[in-house]
Amino acid sequence: MMDQIITRLKNSRSVLLATHVNPDGDAIGSLLAMGLAMETLRIDAKLFCQSPIPALYRFLPWSHRVCRLPDDIKKYEAAVILDCGEFERIGDSVEYVQQIPVIINIDHHFTNTHFGSINLIVTDACATCEIVYQLLLEMGVTINQPIARCLYTGILTDTGSFRFSNTNRSTFEICEELVKVGVNPHDVAKHVYGQYSLSRIKLLNLALDSLEISKNGKISLMTLTDQMLQETGTQNEDVDGMINYARRIKNVKVAVLIQEYRNGRRRTGERGRYHVSLRSDGSVDVANIALFFGGGGHVTAAGFCTESHLSHLKETIFKLAEVL
Ligand code: AMP
Ligand code: MN
Ligand code: MN
Repeated sequence: MMDQIITRLKNSRSVLLATHVNPDGDAIGSLLAMGLAMETLRIDAKLFCQSPIPALYRFLPWSHRVCRLPDDIKKYEAAVILDCGEFERIGDSVEYVQQIPVIINIDHHFTNTHFGSINLIVTDACATCEIVYQLLLEMGVTINQPIARCLYTGILTDTGSFRFSNTNRSTFEICEELVKVGVNPHDVAKHVYGQYSLSRIKLLNLALDSLEISKNGKISLMTLTDQMLQETGTQNEDVDGMINYARRIKNVKVAVLIQEYRNGRRRTGERGRYHVSLRSDGSVDVANIALFFGGGGHVTAAGFCTESHLSHLKETIFKLAEVL
């Protein structure tokens, strides 16, 4: 699979690199690392993500080069889609991007739909950045400090700072190599975890205050409304990671965070649009739950989008607790 990808990329003059909406560290790290690598190979690469790059990740090289529209689709000979379990995860331009003759799908979600013409899906990779690292080595790309910094950031964030169950020996082996070429772990950690705005901490306060626990204590639920974001002056990106507080509670098997979309519900009582994040302690497969609701993810971290009344959505979630 890697050989096919390498041949295809090396024979392309121009490629589109894309990742998922509301990008996390792995999405951004893999996108930027691929972009930087393409430059060393003198392949013209356009970097695309529909959502803005969160402020926390703007310290990464080339983060300012990411475009929010994939212009002039005809010029691309191939597209590389990173960290997306389904093609639709890239957002509204999926039908447009689909027209690119070769779609290279690089991902680590076991729910991946193999939507590409070439699919490199490594479900035991801790992050898409791990797969990109291996691919770049195979391609003969020198992993320089800027590339290493992007890859390290993706691995750091997708493993929850080396704490989640996807953390394994190769995680540390790769990170050792990345540190060898100049990544400073403390410096990356300072950028990613040490630059929170006061608004974000105020939003965390509201998130913690919204905590509800199912009767049997197995499900914890946080709710963030659009109004809470407006009140605190925060963005969707500021919600990232807050679900971990709900997961840490003793005896909780599944933590849930319901987040209302901006303008998701115009009037009280109307159905709203919500993103639901799921995390498990490892004893429950939340990807399966997410799949049931039309989403996807990993065994311990998954998500889906839904249109519903908030009270009905909460009820549905708490009913799940009874069968856990
Ligand atoms: P999140 O809760 O948004 O941080 O996402 C956790 C995991 O679930 C990630 O691996 C995502 O790729 C996946 N995921 C989140 N939302 C969706 C969705 N709407 N459809 C498919 N997968 C999703
Ligand atoms: Mn991701
Ligand atoms: Mn990932």
